[in-house]
Amino acid sequence: MSKGILYTVSAPSGAGKTSLVNALVKSSPEVCVSVSHTTRAMRPGEENGVNYHFVSREKFETMLEQGAFLEHAQVFGNLYGTSQKWVEDTLKSGLDVILEIDWQGAAQVRRLMPDTVSLFILPPSLSALRQRLTGRGQDDQAVIDARMSEAISEISHYVEADYMIINDDFTVALAQFQALITSQHLRQSAQAERHAPLLQELLP
Ligand code: ADP
Repeated sequence: MSKGILYTVSAPSGAGKTSLVNALVKSSPEVCVSVSHTTRAMRPGEENGVNYHFVSREKFETMLEQGAFLEHAQVFGNLYGTSQKWVEDTLKSGLDVILEIDWQGAAQVRRLMPDTVSLFILPPSLSALRQRLTGRGQDDQAVIDARMSEAISEISHYVEADYMIINDDFTVALAQFQALITSQHLRQSAQAERHAPLLQELLP
């Protein structure tokens, strides 16, 4: 079985990363999303093991000492990390894996797994970003202000990504994301592995 492709998807909070990744995964059975571990409190409507693996800071730090994380980062005082074992096992099974992580995490993953494909999602404007954060109804004004100033520093790292999508019209952005996944499947090396019997027949 061929090995899956690892993607990192980064964006300033509110750009629509989660909405796009969820829509992509729904339409692409060969792609799945890594569920991160976090020390942050569960928000209303969230479920342990679905949105995140919610763990105590103690448990997180023990896992960190054991080398369990492919990457980890501190965001707004909370720790977030990606299980290395889960990512490796899932890729080995032939599925693609998406990591929704910030630029720091993406850089750590690239260092350990240089074949990773990195994508950056941008909002069409700062005012649209603020509107989306407000419309999501998840944060109070102070948190939205903090996210807006954090957004500019996140956005400044767009240059480190391989691909970039502007999430203006959601349908267009989703189609571009799907096109990216398809293009990676069409890479010659991946295709040659998948179609080894055909190549043998064509090149007797
Ligand atoms: P992120 O995961 O990047 O923080 P979300 O996926 O939570 O962002 O999206 C933030 C808000 O913006 C949500 O309410 C979502 O429904 C909305 N949203 C996402 N993409 C678009 C878009 N293209 N146009 C308008 N609103 C959008």
